[in-house]
Amino acid sequence: MGATSPLATLFGRKKPLFANTDAFPLTDAILEFDDSSDEPAAQRHLSRREMDLAGQPRDRAAARRWWVASALIALYFLALLGFHALGMVQARTVFVALALVAVGVPGFALAFALGLHHRARDKQLKLPIAMVASASLLVLCYLDPILQILMAPFAFIVVAYAMYRVSGRALMALAGVLMGGYALVIGLHHAEQGNEALLRLELAHWLSLALALPAFILLIGKVQKLHRILHRASRKIRNIQEDAQRDTLVGCFNRRYTVAALEEQKQLADESGIPLCLAVIDLDHFKRINDELGHLGGDEVLRTFSRVAQDNVRAGDIFGRYGGEEFLLIFPGTSLLPALNTCERIRAHVESHAWPAALQSRVSVSIGVTQYILGESVLEFFSRADTAMYMAKEGGRNQVVVEEPVSKGDSSIAPLGTEKDFLGTPAP
Ligand code: GH3
Ligand code: MG
Ligand code: MG
Repeated sequence: MGATSPLATLFGRKKPLFANTDAFPLTDAILEFDDSSDEPAAQRHLSRREMDLAGQPRDRAAARRWWVASALIALYFLALLGFHALGMVQARTVFVALALVAVGVPGFALAFALGLHHRARDKQLKLPIAMVASASLLVLCYLDPILQILMAPFAFIVVAYAMYRVSGRALMALAGVLMGGYALVIGLHHAEQGNEALLRLELAHWLSLALALPAFILLIGKVQKLHRILHRASRKIRNIQEDAQRDTLVGCFNRRYTVAALEEQKQLADESGIPLCLAVIDLDHFKRINDELGHLGGDEVLRTFSRVAQDNVRAGDIFGRYGGEEFLLIFPGTSLLPALNTCERIRAHVESHAWPAALQSRVSVSIGVTQYILGESVLEFFSRADTAMYMAKEGGRNQVVVEEPVSKGDSSIAPLGTEKDFLGTPAP
């Protein structure tokens, strides 16, 4: 038994930890070929993928990440204070820097809070942040010419900060504006002070930055390209991982995922002692439905049933297709009565669903449900739920039968095969 901490047991493993292990990744081409693509279950597929493409998780992270910009400003501020401590920068400049920070940081915080970043293409607002930072550098340089020493390193930091979200062309434009502003500052210094030595020094500084900054932007173009490639690849891997967990016909979890989830939940129940229930669900007389509607009609019934069932389970429950017209429903952290109630709700919803006229009063499910007995094998657990399902069939179908958990070793449990059999034998 693994040494899982109580906290991890309670909060950390509600969903199966394993990634998929399926050896048949579904490509976009296969998904497009799949005739279920216009069905609700498949829509769930698409909506997850669309969410991914729209960058919703990245979008959420955007508001957090802009704090990096604040940290960089704080770094500049530290350098400024150092210069001030050395007697090279006036107190007035420090106060102006403070005022810029006091306006800039809450200003962007407000923009994120109001959701203005949703309207921008760059959800992290990196270009506007970089522009405000550049303008602030110029203002402070104007106030205290010595701060040109900080100008070059921080101009590079600003460009590097924006490089993953801002195109090379926009970065060049940013550098152009920065150098234009810098030229203006130099002009103002000369007009106000008439200091030839300062002018020469500032022009030398300007020239070095004007040459180095575009070269830097050209070089980071390669890094940007690599970043884009990695980003696309990781998105593809995520989609493949999700696809490999799904049943291609109905869109719910597939057999491999569901069985692995059952094993993991059993371990979790063993470690924590929290209850665990399992239901085996089988569509009644499905062969007849196929015979009358054809296999495509049968497929449609399977998809609709899967949707109805998933609409009636909690977020933490794991619903998957075991094979054919048989499904498993795992209830983590649930005792028998609520699990039974959910099964009964699914049964009733399937019965009362607005099926097409040809199927009215003909689609029903038989469900067997049981609670995990601590220490039993996954196979024993599954077999008891399966036995209950067959009892529901024998009892006239369209009903839920509960296999009351009895002490281990009870003779009512059918002889068992091996774990390998359970995982490897396809359902009828
Ligand atoms: P019972 O009430 O005893 O479960 O009867 P049944 O007809 O549902 O059970 P049986 O095992 O005799 O038939 C199951 C049928 O399910 C046979 C098979 O062709 C059909 N089936 C299995 N997988 C699929 C599938 O993916 N699509 C379709 N349309 N039919 C399937
Ligand atoms: Mg059946
Ligand atoms: Mg069956």
